[in-house]
Amino acid sequence: MAPPVNAIASAPLGTAPMGLIHVSGQPRSPVSNEVPADFDSQVLLSLLDLHRALLAAGGSIVGIARLTLYIVNYNRRELQHTRHLHRFLRGHNPIINLVPVTQLAEPGWQFLLDAEVAISHSIPQPLPTVDQKAWDVIVLGAGLSGLTAADQLIQAGLSCLVLEARDRVGGRTWSASLSHGKGIVDIGASWLNNTNQSKVSKLARRFEVEFITQNTSGNCLAQDKAGSSHVFAYGGLPVSYRSSAFLSSDPLELTTAQFDTETQKHLGEIRDLVEADCQQLDSANPQNPIHDAMTFLAYLCSRNASETAIASASIWSRAMLGQEPQDISALYFLHHCKAGGGLLQMRSDRVGGGQYLRIRQGTQSICKGLAASLPSKNILLSSPVTAVNQSYPNRVYVQTGNRIFQASKVISTVPSPVLRGIQFTPTLPARKQLLVDSYTYGYFTKAMLVFKNPFWAEKGFCGLAQSFTGPASIIRDCSSPEDDAWILTCFLCGDTGRTWSQQDDKIRTDSLLEQIGLMYSDKTRVLSEYLTTVWHDWTAEQYSGFGCPCPSLPPGVLSAAGDALREPFWNVHFSGTETSVEWKGFMEGAVRSGERSATEVSKQLVGSRV
Ligand SMILES: Cc1cc2nc3c(=O)[nH]c(=O)nc-3n(C[C@H](O)[C@H](O)[C@H](O)COP(=O)(O)OP(=O)(O)OC[C@H]3O[C@@H](n4cnc5c(N)ncnc54)[C@H](O)[C@@H]3O)c2cc1C
Repeated sequence: MAPPVNAIASAPLGTAPMGLIHVSGQPRSPVSNEVPADFDSQVLLSLLDLHRALLAAGGSIVGIARLTLYIVNYNRRELQHTRHLHRFLRGHNPIINLVPVTQLAEPGWQFLLDAEVAISHSIPQPLPTVDQKAWDVIVLGAGLSGLTAADQLIQAGLSCLVLEARDRVGGRTWSASLSHGKGIVDIGASWLNNTNQSKVSKLARRFEVEFITQNTSGNCLAQDKAGSSHVFAYGGLPVSYRSSAFLSSDPLELTTAQFDTETQKHLGEIRDLVEADCQQLDSANPQNPIHDAMTFLAYLCSRNASETAIASASIWSRAMLGQEPQDISALYFLHHCKAGGGLLQMRSDRVGGGQYLRIRQGTQSICKGLAASLPSKNILLSSPVTAVNQSYPNRVYVQTGNRIFQASKVISTVPSPVLRGIQFTPTLPARKQLLVDSYTYGYFTKAMLVFKNPFWAEKGFCGLAQSFTGPASIIRDCSSPEDDAWILTCFLCGDTGRTWSQQDDKIRTDSLLEQIGLMYSDKTRVLSEYLTTVWHDWTAEQYSGFGCPCPSLPPGVLSAAGDALREPFWNVHFSGTETSVEWKGFMEGAVRSGERSATEVSKQLVGSRV
């Protein structure tokens, strides 16, 4: 039986201190107990082990009062552990002791930690009045996943309220008009395809958008560590030669440079190994304890990847996830590739690839179309959800500011890192909480540089460029010829992007123009063609979880808790792009997850009424 409306006022929402516990973290795989050889993977697995222990005891990361780290052969100049520790603590500042040791209890262990953790318990807090209307479903978030779910639920005859934190729909799709002339830029997601991304492309067609095919005619550029540029044909591999041929405006001359065949062969081998390993995985249930017990960097080293091959693979992890290879699980990276059909398909700008088409009206037009097709009373903007309460049978109470809504079911589509800021009563199950706590973003920002003319195309290039130096790691043509809008989108990502993010927009823009001028060996032309830049830094976006394009996991978590990803918690169901089996992290994944969660919920609700 549902509680009287004022009974919800005694629901537990606050916390009070209870006591201190001691937990430790060992550098073992949560599945096989194996200990990886490299230091980064050992630190990340020890933090995971500690995290699991403190969740099992009812604690949380912010409850950690004191940490003691034991490091074998500690070298104070290489503070290698601090990077992982800071990411784990996320701004929390416990007392940290470091104990250098010559060896630990087990041979091969290089790192171990223990912690004193304060445990709290919930105390009742007064809550505002509950809205009288009982909805069938409340959806958290009006991005692609939430609006797809709402659209499907309403079509199934269920009542549905969408609560959206921002003052706009679209979430990580967000399109803006250019101030110079015509055309629209995508501040968030840009690319899709119309073959294996069938759901999102069908939805886009429903709203009669126009597609722009990604430009792949002409050559590409690669900038090496020394800042020198090299030309390669689209679809080929960057090679380690210094070409002066591309300085010529004659595209035929571009093919005449000398190839370093050894480097090219090695890069191809590493790429093919990653492709083969990712294709082995089951998209719905990725299992490989060995690959999950190591970072992507350790995986590359275990494959004897050269420095150049690691630099190339770092561009993949930066461009796809904003992450450095030493911060993410190898299994997570491989599974991310598999979900998008494989590394090659995901990185491709051609038919079936992740970057094949753009939308002239901007990708946000899909969410705007979906929102316009729903009755206006079903979407509340500027309504950030702060608490979800399942203390009473068959009812979920959802709080936004000073209002509480009630429903039979809730679908959360907010990005996993955002769930950390929503108070769940009772608390999320330990494995779900482990996932939510462990998801991290790297650094990823897009800068759209607008030019008067497509000078790169005139020089025989398609606009695709990659760089080991930066500021931009990847550059792609995002022009809209119909609008006479000529745009190079620069991706500032990973550590390089984060370093440049300390600079103001003017310095960053000047540096990007310098980089493009250097790459095309024509700084004068680049400067004379330049009009403006559209910047947006997603690390400031609270309702994306302070990052983009999608969060990733460190070693061990997929194995320890990956199966909790799509698991409902009583009447709360979980959606959003990172829960998708296919194209997770992409718009296609968001639409698929919205459909999956709506089907899950409507089966139960409609079934219970029969
Ligand atoms: C810069 C960038 C580039 C990208 N490039 C591509 C690309 O080229 N191709 C591609 O396919 N994908 C790309 N993506 C990823 C793509 O945008 C996402 O995968 C997809 O849009 C996610 O949709 P979603 O509905 O799962 O999540 P979101 O779009 O994040 O929607 C979640 C919604 O929940 C809302 N919300 C958050 N917290 C709360 C709260 N407390 N209460 C209520 N509402 C809340 C948010 O405001 C948001 O509207 C990119 C993303 C970014 C940011």
